[in-house]
Amino acid sequence: MIDDPRSYQTFLRERREAICERIAAAARRAGREPGEVEAIAVSKTVGADAVLLAIRAGWGLFGENRPQELGRKLEALQGVPEAAGVRFDMIGNLQKNKINQVIGRVRLIHSISSAHLAEAVSTRCEARGIVADVLVETNVSGERSKSGLSPDELRSEIEGILELPGIRVGGLMTMAPAGDPDAARRTFSGLRELASELRGRTGLALPTLSCGMSDDFEVAVEEGSTLVRLGRCVFDQGYNLD
Ligand SMILES: *Cc1c(COP(=O)(O)O)cnc(C)c1O
Repeated sequence: MIDDPRSYQTFLRERREAICERIAAAARRAGREPGEVEAIAVSKTVGADAVLLAIRAGWGLFGENRPQELGRKLEALQGVPEAAGVRFDMIGNLQKNKINQVIGRVRLIHSISSAHLAEAVSTRCEARGIVADVLVETNVSGERSKSGLSPDELRSEIEGILELPGIRVGGLMTMAPAGDPDAARRTFSGLRELASELRGRTGLALPTLSCGMSDDFEVAVEEGSTLVRLGRCVFDQGYNLD
């Protein structure tokens, strides 16, 4: 897959630096500290060989959307000294019968997209004596194609979700409509306002806002994102990070 690992690693390093600079600049424009924003490299379209090069290029956090692929990458990186301390997040749709492949193996599950799934994850964690860190996926834009709780569902379900003993809710996650920067901005600011409303109601800190992808991460950071999920702009040499 990778013709020339050395030059791909150089590409990954230069991209990472450019991305970090853009995140920092977007944070400053919004009066925020660059250190408030974390980036994960979404490795779902690349193999473990590219992940290893990305680790050498400075990335330490990755995102996967399929439990099986997550398992494959974790196995491939097991025992590799440079991969010690590297963590993966689960960012994709999680089916109930795959929960056990994910819990205990990831840093954070971004994609708790229903109260039902929250309960199922909690139950399985309890059975294993662990507590999973999760985010609640919220469909702020209201697009039918997007998963997650609607803002109204979130308002009515959040207290029940917060009581579940096997999960720890650290915040919210959303996806913006593609190809429409204004709609993306409204989605991200909507997520921020929703989190602030829930903080007021529950007294919880809910510090994490997972939003922003390759095409809209700077807007997301301007609107309060604390965790951007970047795939194409990290790994794809054909991606134009203008
Ligand atoms: C693929 C994916 C990303 C990364 O998208 P890019 O546009 O490639 O940056 C982020 N979040 C989720 C949930 C994804 O599935």
